[in-house]
Amino acid sequence: MNAASPYEVQELPEVTNGRDNSMRSEKFDVVILGGGNAGIGVTGPVRRAGMSVAMIESHDLGGTCPNRGCTPKKVLVAAGHALHEIERAAIHHISVGKPKLDWSALIDREKDLIKDIPANLARSMARRDVEVIKGHAAFAGPNAIRVGGRRLEARHIVIATGSKPRPLSIPGAEHMITSDEMLSERELPGSVIFVGGGVISLEFGHVYARAGADVTILEALPQLLPAMDVDAVAHPDRERAHRHSGQDGRRRETDRACE
Ligand SMILES: Cc1cc2nc3c(=O)[nH]c(=O)nc-3n(C[C@H](O)[C@H](O)[C@H](O)COP(=O)(O)OP(=O)(O)OC[C@H]3O[C@@H](n4cnc5c(N)ncnc54)[C@H](O)[C@@H]3O)c2cc1C
Repeated sequence: MNAASPYEVQELPEVTNGRDNSMRSEKFDVVILGGGNAGIGVTGPVRRAGMSVAMIESHDLGGTCPNRGCTPKKVLVAAGHALHEIERAAIHHISVGKPKLDWSALIDREKDLIKDIPANLARSMARRDVEVIKGHAAFAGPNAIRVGGRRLEARHIVIATGSKPRPLSIPGAEHMITSDEMLSERELPGSVIFVGGGVISLEFGHVYARAGADVTILEALPQLLPAMDVDAVAHPDRERAHRHSGQDGRRRETDRACE
């Protein structure tokens, strides 16, 4: 294990956690599959209830949100907001020069800000007396889990394994990247097409557009942010987007930020 890597779950000191190791199967009250927000959220109440808990995580403790989702994305979004504020400075009679964003350095900052999260969460789980096991969990029976060479039995098994991107069955899909790669891409692209006009797409689109890329958002449904109320979306939709009809759905283009 490389202790310097933010993407490794740190090994935890052995904790007793009330479990019974005397049998071949280790017994816990609760085994949680997945150490993301959902899995970690379960640990508090069940530990407060006095239950013994093991949590199995195959990748980064913290899961998507802090490692390759909400948190790194917010670092980029903050830079987008800063550019927006600079653009608006003249309203306050402040003169500023044209800002220049060093995209590669911004990605470095994003990585730096999240790098300690898995280790911090590992310490937090150790304090909570939750045993974190690194590995890929699989069911070995209705109440049994296999991970590595270990077999765990539990009265309660919590499946909190999250989700992963679904490959699109369209021509050219092999050229597409996901948010995972975007958050590591050190070169600012000249133009970006987002498939889907949801929150994540609009946030990333805002940042890329502010940074100077041409941004296109493709949305098949009648409005951007389709999960949100129509009236909440009406303003950005009307003000920011220029609408075209396309064969495969509605195409919305913007040459500036969608906020
Ligand atoms: C780019 C991006 C930005 C986002 N921004 C926001 C935001 O701003 N606000 C917001 O509310 N939400 C945001 N989200 C959504 C948020 O990240 C997810 O809703 C949240 O992370 C889901 O948590 P989870 O615990 O259910 O799943 P995850 O965080 O995905 O955790 C599941 C964990 O289970 C592990 N796992 C899977 N299978 C196994 C197995 N067999 N054995 C062991 N471990 C396993 C995985 O490695 C993973 O760590 C964003 C998502 C993305 C991708």
